[in-house]
Amino acid sequence: MATSIVTGGAGFLGSHLCDRLLEEGHRVICVDNLDTGTLENIEHIRDPGFVFLQHDVTRHLQLEGPVDYVFHLASPASPIDYLRLPLHTLKVGSYGTHNALGLAKAKRARFMLASTSEVYGDPKEHPQPESYWGHVNPIGPRGVYDEAKRYAEALTMAYHRQQGVDTHIARIFNTYGPRMRPHDGRAIPTFIRQASEHKPLTVFGDGSQTRSFCFVSDLIEGLRRLIDDDYHLPVNLGNPGEYTILQLAEEIIRVTNSTSEIVYEALPQDDPAVRQPDITVARELLAWAPTVELGEGLQRTVAAPSPERAPVAP
Ligand code: NAD
Ligand code: UDP
Repeated sequence: MATSIVTGGAGFLGSHLCDRLLEEGHRVICVDNLDTGTLENIEHIRDPGFVFLQHDVTRHLQLEGPVDYVFHLASPASPIDYLRLPLHTLKVGSYGTHNALGLAKAKRARFMLASTSEVYGDPKEHPQPESYWGHVNPIGPRGVYDEAKRYAEALTMAYHRQQGVDTHIARIFNTYGPRMRPHDGRAIPTFIRQASEHKPLTVFGDGSQTRSFCFVSDLIEGLRRLIDDDYHLPVNLGNPGEYTILQLAEEIIRVTNSTSEIVYEALPQDDPAVRQPDITVARELLAWAPTVELGEGLQRTVAAPSPERAPVAP
């Protein structure tokens, strides 16, 4: 039986990954300090092969017994979280990633870094292939997240090249689904909460900036395939379907049958104007492509129970 460690396993993506690995019969050790995650995301798990360890990954991580996979997802991920926790975000990307890689090295485990499309910053190449080096403001408010992830990627490649660790880097584009916190500040949970309460949807700027939204089950499938591959360079994982934020707001009003209006608020500094993954590498390497369209994924998200929001009837 394989043993997997999932750092950040009580978060949105991490909890879905724990579910998936348990379904496959893995033993799963979920390591999380509950900074932005919650026990509610994992309280449904009854599997005797599941262990929760409340631990801050910026501190030394030592575990008994064999480990086959280390999925390193621990990090604040929403802009309001990393703006609230700037130093912690830099420490998770640096010390936290050192500790997770050190564990993978000691256990001879396969390692995966949950990196991000934010390494491309406000991109000047569109869509973004993995070969694009990015356009990041290192000293702007988003720099703490972007540079932490860029450093984590550099560290991961160094552990691979110098130490022979079996590493993988997933550059994850905006992913959504059940278990996102209604108050985590990201566009989809915010708009769903506002629409389900029939309150105005807060579109930042004129709403012409674009994002490409991937449903969580597609993303987890991609992560799962990637860590078993022998490719060590970064791989984009995301849904290439590109929407303006205004289109997203309108779609969420439609899906929730809401009477909400749209209001416009100030655009945050360094907010990327466009974002769309080029997933040629993932398609060719992993035979992977997303299968869930935005409308369907939003339906599934609003229908799911949420601790702070009643499910919306379809
Ligand atoms: P999330 O905030 O729901 O999950 C992050 C988890 O990490 C939380 O459970 C949090 O408590 C935990 N954590 C934070 N600091 C920690 C520490 N020092 N020690 C232990 N645990 C810690 O966010 P998410 O959306 O699930 O993101 C998970 C990962 O995927 C992050 O690394 C994020 O950067 C990456 N990612 C997510 C997206 C997305 O769209 N969801 C996009 C790109 C990258
Ligand atoms: N956004 C918005 N209103 C909100 C939250 C976000 O218009 O209440 C915009 C945000 O400015 C960005 C996009 O939606 O252009 C996606 O934001 P999110 O925080 O979900 O993720 P990002 O891709 O910026 O990390």
